[in-house]
Amino acid sequence: MSEAPAGPVSGGDALLIRGGRLLDGSVVDVAIADGRYLAVGTDIAAATTELPDGASVVEIDAAGGLLTPSFVNGHLHLDKVYTLQAAGDAALQAYTSGGMGGALDSIALASAVKADYRVDTAQPLIRRSLLDAVRYGCLHLQAFVDLDAAAGMRGFQAVQPVRDELAGVLNVQIVAFPQDGLVRDAGARELCEAALEQGADVVGGIPWIEYTDADARAHVEWACELAARTGRRVAVLTDDAGDPSLRTTGMLAEAMIRHDLVGRGVACHARAVGSYPGPTLQRLIGLARRAGLGFVTDPHTGPLHLPVREFLDAGLPVALGQDDIEDAYYPFGRNNMLEVAFLAAHLVGFLSDADQLRLIDMITGAAAQVLGLGDHVIREGAPANLLVHGHDRVVDLLRYHDAPRVVISRGRIVARDGAIVQAVAPR
Ligand SMILES: [Zn+2]
Repeated sequence: MSEAPAGPVSGGDALLIRGGRLLDGSVVDVAIADGRYLAVGTDIAAATTELPDGASVVEIDAAGGLLTPSFVNGHLHLDKVYTLQAAGDAALQAYTSGGMGGALDSIALASAVKADYRVDTAQPLIRRSLLDAVRYGCLHLQAFVDLDAAAGMRGFQAVQPVRDELAGVLNVQIVAFPQDGLVRDAGARELCEAALEQGADVVGGIPWIEYTDADARAHVEWACELAARTGRRVAVLTDDAGDPSLRTTGMLAEAMIRHDLVGRGVACHARAVGSYPGPTLQRLIGLARRAGLGFVTDPHTGPLHLPVREFLDAGLPVALGQDDIEDAYYPFGRNNMLEVAFLAAHLVGFLSDADQLRLIDMITGAAAQVLGLGDHVIREGAPANLLVHGHDRVVDLLRYHDAPRVVISRGRIVARDGAIVQAVAPR
């Protein structure tokens, strides 16, 4: 990993980006001060006179390169990054082969290695993956950490300090995730609730792995009741196997409505939904719309995936997620969301110009909406989380999935040309 210094962090006063191209093709200048966009447009001279006297202004010539909001990773198993070697290939084989018929076996196989999980060895790997996110322009992540009998609190204990260490640079929402079930794993409830008390942000769940529909319903009920009671969001891993009879995505939507969590929940994976009969799919889409349920899909980590085009056409928000980085379920990954979008382009058949723009939206604006992040646009007054790219066409962003020329987090330059600036990652 290269963390060579790449010039100073901007003084924190102001940035002036000249000649950047927005996704609509217009070429604009952008002024940033105090972590927010001060002005965006073709004539921003007046706005820049508002900069405080004596403020140091760092100028960046975008040279016609694209400007996008920073990237968002909707779903990542952050506690498990780079653990594939310890886990071995058996879980990976079980998860991906036979039409995902062995998905339950894969979770049991992956769980077996958790006895050897160590906080001190995991933390450098977690830090590595988060610094990779920054170098590739991803500044928001929804990170799942396992809380179960095998792992105890160790996944959370590994992730939380690294999240806090880098909190000035990127925003990591920690999801308290009962990976081995809640009814199946009697201790998971207490562990999740403890993690939430100690700083986890989002209530997680994985109801589809329970042994009965009644247990799955109790699992979803627990997650939504807890989220409603503690003012949190829910992020639930639903229907993640080659079994079209799974129905936990709909259970989640129903429970969100019942617990007044409309617009505050996310379903991740939901792969079985892709093989639902038409009328069943239509009912789910209607219910999800009513619940304000957002979706995260990661078609590169399993042979099945959410029916993305149908969901987007129905107006449902869908984000992309990296899902795994070299763990028991997937051998690759580097928190490069353009790479994830490039893979998704092939797997969900998004090749036209319009569909390429949809892919960018699924890692920027729509992804922020799915995670409830608010104003994630290049607009006066919004937080300045901005990427200056070296390419001027969307097709080249996706083709090369290069690191951005400049990554700006809350108005501060944090990476240039794939290298983290020294003040972010001191050596
Ligand atoms: Zn996942």
